[in-house]
Amino acid sequence: MRKFAAPLFLAAALTSAQTTIAQHPANSRVTQAEVVELQWRAFREFSLAQREGGIAIDDAARTLSVDRTFARLLAVAWRHFPASMSLRWEVLLTDDESIEARAYPSGQVVLAEPFVTRFVRSEAELAFLLAHEIAHVLLEHGRYGYEAAVPLTRLAGWVDARLIDENLASNLTLRLRLQPLLRAQENEADRLGAELAGAAGFTESAGPELLERMAASGDEPSPGHDSLQARSAALRLPLPLD
Ligand SMILES: [Zn+2]
Repeated sequence: MRKFAAPLFLAAALTSAQTTIAQHPANSRVTQAEVVELQWRAFREFSLAQREGGIAIDDAARTLSVDRTFARLLAVAWRHFPASMSLRWEVLLTDDESIEARAYPSGQVVLAEPFVTRFVRSEAELAFLLAHEIAHVLLEHGRYGYEAAVPLTRLAGWVDARLIDENLASNLTLRLRLQPLLRAQENEADRLGAELAGAAGFTESAGPELLERMAASGDEPSPGHDSLQARSAALRLPLPLD
C-alpha cells in the first residue's frame, strides 16, 4: 500500500516540476489575482446558465454527500495551502450530461451527476474526483496555463489573462501546443488529489480504481490527457519521496 509520507513536500515538488515545464515567461503580466477574477466571472456565467436551464441541482438531499465530501477535503487543503482559504470555494452539482467534472481556478468545482452515477462506486472515489479538481486550483494550474501561453502567442505589448483567454478560444494551434503542459497538470492533479483524499481519511486505492473503471468503459480521454490506464498506473507507482 502506498503511503503519503510528506504531503507538503510533495506539493512543493510538484510545483517546482511544473515551474520548469511552464518556463515562466519573463514578459508575462498574468497574476493569480487576475486569473481568479476572470475565472470567477466565467463560473458565475456558467452557473447562471445552468440554473436558467434548470439543470443545476439545488436539492440538499441530492447534494449532501458531495457537499460533505467537499468540505472534508477542503479542511485538509486549507491546512496545507492556507492562502487558498481566501478563494470562493463552491461545488456545483449539475444534471448536465455534456460535462464530467471541472474546476475553475477561482475555487469553484463543477460535478455532473450523470457522470458520477455512471462511474463512481464509493465515497472514496467521489473524494478522489473532487480532490483532483481541488488540486488543479491549489496548484494554480490556470495561471500556469496562461503564463505558458504568453510566449506561444504572437501578442506583443501588454498581455493580460483576458487577452490570452480570447486567443486560447480562437487559436487551435495554441491549444495544441499547450497539450504537454495540460497533460502534466492532469498527472499532478491525480497525485495531489490522491494525497489530499488520503489525508482526509479516504481509501487511497480509490483513485486508480476509478480511473481503471473509466478506462474500461472505452471512452477516449480528450487529446490533452494521458490515457486513463496510464494515469491509473502512474498513481499506483510509489512516490519518489517514499
Ligand atoms: Zn483534471
